[in-house]
Amino acid sequence: MLPGWGRNGRAAQEGGISRISRVVGIRTAWTTVGDGEFFCPGCGGDRNYQRRTGRRRFAVLGIPLVPRGSAGPVVECAACCEHFGTDALDHPTTHRFSAMLRDAVHTVALAVLAADGTCERAALEAAVGVVRAAGFDQCTEEQLAALIEALAADTGRLPEQCGSGLTGLAIELHEALDPLTPHLAPAGRESILVQGARIALADGPYTPAERDVLGTVGSALTMGADDVSRLLAAARTTSS
Ligand SMILES: [Zn+2]
Repeated sequence: MLPGWGRNGRAAQEGGISRISRVVGIRTAWTTVGDGEFFCPGCGGDRNYQRRTGRRRFAVLGIPLVPRGSAGPVVECAACCEHFGTDALDHPTTHRFSAMLRDAVHTVALAVLAADGTCERAALEAAVGVVRAAGFDQCTEEQLAALIEALAADTGRLPEQCGSGLTGLAIELHEALDPLTPHLAPAGRESILVQGARIALADGPYTPAERDVLGTVGSALTMGADDVSRLLAAARTTSS
């Protein structure tokens, strides 16, 4: 609302910086240029946002007069109305984060199972437990076994990939883990690797192919080779 002339006129006469700044100052008019859902760092949850750009004008008595350039873009939370830099959109929503985590664990489980090309019952059981705990409640041993078969058939159709071993799987692992990794605490990264290790150990000690896959998981999670070795050794101790 625009302040009345009389009231501000009197304020100006009485002087003082704060009163002058109420008379002259920069006003920003915001325009919405997009919207979506984000994780609000202000009120801490998945919220709707509006992406807004502003036009600043030098204002006298609340009336915008002279253009003073643009402001923003900013992200405005629909719930708390706070403004944030657009980097606030880099952080996934809780919903998106859970989905990425679920997909990552599913991909790691498949990769470990596929490493040897054979699916032992014990390994399938362990994998189903891990994948269900990650959020795919409906996952069954039959489903995982079918996916492994499909993966094997795929590799068979692309003989040039056989020579490079686990190339296809490595790409899948990176696609699932790379976007997730920056948002995981170290304990979260270790947990994903250890879950893969438990699946590998369910049907006996690590095979060289399983070690390779778990090494790829570790590097996609940006863990050092020493950390990976330590965690794999620890998982072996606790599982036997
Ligand atoms: Zn908020």
